[in-house]
Amino acid sequence: MTGSLTIVGLGPGTPDWITPAAQAALDAATDIVGYGPYVDRVPQRAGLTKHASDNRVEVERASHALQLAAEGRTVAVVSGGDPGVFAMAAAVFEALEAGPAEWRALPITVEPGITAMLAAAARAGAPLGGDFCAISLSDNLKPWEVVTARLEAVLAADLVICLYNPISKARPWQLGKALELAAQQRDAATPVLFARAVGRPDENLRILTLAEAVAAASTADMATLVMIGASSTRLIAREGAAPYVYTPRSVAKSPCATSQGRT
Ligand code: SAH
Repeated sequence: MTGSLTIVGLGPGTPDWITPAAQAALDAATDIVGYGPYVDRVPQRAGLTKHASDNRVEVERASHALQLAAEGRTVAVVSGGDPGVFAMAAAVFEALEAGPAEWRALPITVEPGITAMLAAAARAGAPLGGDFCAISLSDNLKPWEVVTARLEAVLAADLVICLYNPISKARPWQLGKALELAAQQRDAATPVLFARAVGRPDENLRILTLAEAVAAASTADMATLVMIGASSTRLIAREGAAPYVYTPRSVAKSPCATSQGRT
């Protein structure tokens, strides 16, 4: 029997946000490989072997998954959100690139999922209606200087900025620093979203101003997606409910000149 490997996006948390194609890949799998909490999201059933591993061992985990597929197993590697966004798909291709030539003959499929920034945006309104970008604040895999250089570039470009991996016990100050950089270039009233555990029972959405967000940086955690608005991102107030956050699709001439004009 020929093995195969599918890298499956489980979405942000609720099973309602798993695509039918991702579910079919999970149902067909003989082996589930992934970080413990994601593997736990796949119900146990007869004939299924689960291989849960620790965080931070992505390439070893990916090599193990490729090895299982090479042995003839039908393997699903699971990631939260979308597997291609700061997640296991790139780790699998890293392992494939460095691994034995026969792995390249394996059928490898990526099944997309709803990434955290899209789930957070949907809950808030339409903050990603204009141009935007995503940056991981983790400096485990890249130097902090690279993170700040990229932040400065996208702040100057007036993009909405989605920050993944904003903070952890090992990286307590990076989010505060990133928000301070933002506050140097963007208006203090710019909307900032702290979207925590979207799609999970403990979901929590906070809409702050940039000035408030700088002060509240330490209240974010690893389950939080932080979204910094662009100059046109604004709120629509509602009676008795949180405002909608949205960014219009249209941009006036010279958005960069506008944002520079603010500093
Ligand atoms: N592949 C994942 C991202 C992995 S990086 C995806 O596509 O969503 C992990 C980071 O994603 C977290 O630190 C957090 O910033 C964000 N994240 C993941 N799930 C989330 C959720 N349910 N709610 C808010 N942010 C989430």
